[in-house]
Amino acid sequence: MFQVKADIIAREEVIPGVVSLTIVSPEISKHAKPGQFVHILCGEHEDFILRRPFSIHRVMPGRTFEIIFKVVGRGTAALSKMKLHDTLDVIGPLGHGFEYSEQIRSALLVAGGLGVAPLLYLAEELTNKHVKFFTMIGARTKTELLRYIDFKRMGKMTYAATDDGSFGHDGTVVDLLNRTIHQLRPEIIYACGPEPMLKKVAETADDFGVKCQVSVEAKFACGVGACLGCAYNTKQGHKMVCQHGPVFDAQDIIWP
Ligand SMILES: Cc1cc2nc3c(=O)[nH]c(=O)nc-3n(C[C@H](O)[C@H](O)[C@H](O)COP(=O)(O)OP(=O)(O)OC[C@H]3O[C@@H](n4cnc5c(N)ncnc54)[C@H](O)[C@@H]3O)c2cc1C
Repeated sequence: MFQVKADIIAREEVIPGVVSLTIVSPEISKHAKPGQFVHILCGEHEDFILRRPFSIHRVMPGRTFEIIFKVVGRGTAALSKMKLHDTLDVIGPLGHGFEYSEQIRSALLVAGGLGVAPLLYLAEELTNKHVKFFTMIGARTKTELLRYIDFKRMGKMTYAATDDGSFGHDGTVVDLLNRTIHQLRPEIIYACGPEPMLKKVAETADDFGVKCQVSVEAKFACGVGACLGCAYNTKQGHKMVCQHGPVFDAQDIIWP
């Protein structure tokens, strides 16, 4: 874990209200693993004393890492207004990420909305390890379907679902799960997205006897397991999302 003052070297408004920042940090980018996150001070005002967590979205090892975020409140609004060459105070990489190896025969990645954030990095690492994987991405509407092309470019089968039917399946990724798992027989499922989606993915994986890892969200202050603000109920007792997670074995979670 490092605390660095890091420059922004690229900024993109991916869609209205969703911004990606590429940040220079040889230390964080060298040590990061898919599923881990960074904790960022979003400004100098007292509103921003608490850092905000963001998944590591992409990495150029030893050079830069990227985050992608949706503007939902004051912290993310301030961060979205940062400009090229502004400097951020960043702590990371933090948390426990996805577990994977080249021994995996095939994997299924399931992302809802901003859930693509950690999964694109995982997809790149699986590609490097020659692991076959398939992706399902869900969003409210076609224009909010994030990184669909990036997943497709990796040459793997990519399914899309939109709530309004404007692209891909008319409905949610959850609707497609049974059929997809039945057809593809993945050895493991990795998922990130809204909690109801994760719960359903976990239940379906369990029905098929497929291993499943989920990246969950909770609000916390410290990011290192000290403030106990992000306790998640698991079969092994309370675990801290920031320290023991954000990635957990889905079978261990006792869903709220
Ligand atoms: C491990 C982890 C990784 C994350 N990665 C990403 C990412 O890659 N991209 C991204 O867009 N967001 C991500 N988030 C969520 C992001 O941290 C919050 O959206 C951000 O902290 C909100 O800050 P804010 O000051 O803009 O909003 P606030 O003013 O603090 O809150 C605005 C609204 O967002 C809700 N909110 C705030 N924090 C959270 C949270 N942690 N979970 C659920 N709802 C929240 C509040 O209830 C409120 O409705 C992640 C969260 C965690 C815990």
